[in-house]
Amino acid sequence: MYQHYARPGPEDGGKPPGHAVAILSMARDSRRVQVLDVNTDYQRLWGGAREEWLGATPNVVEQEAANQQILARLDDALKTNAEHDFEGIGGREVSRQHDGSRRHIEWRITAMGGYQHDAITLVLTQRDVTEQVENEAQLKRLATTDMLTGLVNRSQFDTSLKSELSRQDRYARPLSLIMLDIDYFKDINDGYGHDVGDQVLVELANLLKGNLRQADYCARWGGEEFMLLTPETPLENAVHLADKIRRVINTASFPVSGPVTASFGVVEAQPQESVKSIMKRVDHALYLAKDKGRDQVSPIELVKSARLA
Ligand code: GH3
Ligand code: MG
Ligand code: MG
Repeated sequence: MYQHYARPGPEDGGKPPGHAVAILSMARDSRRVQVLDVNTDYQRLWGGAREEWLGATPNVVEQEAANQQILARLDDALKTNAEHDFEGIGGREVSRQHDGSRRHIEWRITAMGGYQHDAITLVLTQRDVTEQVENEAQLKRLATTDMLTGLVNRSQFDTSLKSELSRQDRYARPLSLIMLDIDYFKDINDGYGHDVGDQVLVELANLLKGNLRQADYCARWGGEEFMLLTPETPLENAVHLADKIRRVINTASFPVSGPVTASFGVVEAQPQESVKSIMKRVDHALYLAKDKGRDQVSPIELVKSARLA
């Protein structure tokens, strides 16, 4: 059995490989797949010299088990489709390379004609798409993150809220929403400048991150408003959480601006509730907390009436 190589390919020069190509042959009886030839990009992607690959089992990915699964898939596809209808198979895999790096490999196997002398010739093409995948992930991060605080932004939170509301309907699980707004934030900006205001937003975001569970969502909704979405949490627990965070904020040290407080609206999602409806309710709850004097969680009366609703 062929041993995978633990050394880099010839003359890498750090350049990312282009299209790796291997010509393969599969025997009709034994179903064994072996390499007939490889190009230099294939050698650079997987290591080993051309001569060492001839007759060996090809690499679609580095991991032996995953590789065998793909070859079994090829076998199935060739058996199921009459050879002329075989349109090829392909995919995108994460491969842990011999040098320890994780690469995203896009691959495809097609046939060159049908069986001849009880063997079929196949072409394996592969492309390292790691850079493209990482760029896409980076763009997605930028599009969904608030640049100042590093929290998710409003549009991403909106998406999560929609999907959690429908999950809550499907499984009838409790889900609560907390909206918080910094009190008299305008005075901080006016008194100490916009940069200090920004610093307060960053510090407050860090306090939020440090006081939530992994499953909770935390977003900057806009300006000095933040949203917390807490799955598996009934209203009463969400009120406790909001009050805990309220105390964390009003006892935290904000070196330049001095003490900061925030007001909280809390609601629990009702069955079949729309995003629009729950947003309206939480906004109203926040308004009541402000109206009652700020530095507090939605008044208890509201919590009671929401529970009865
Ligand atoms: P209230 O207690 O009623 O919430 O009073 P407030 O002063 O916090 O509310 P108001 O809506 O009057 O002011 C919010 C201020 O937040 C006004 C706006 O200039 C400021 N702001 C919005 N976004 C940012 C930001 O990214 N950075 C800074 N520094 N200020 C911001
Ligand atoms: Mg506000
Ligand atoms: Mg405010």
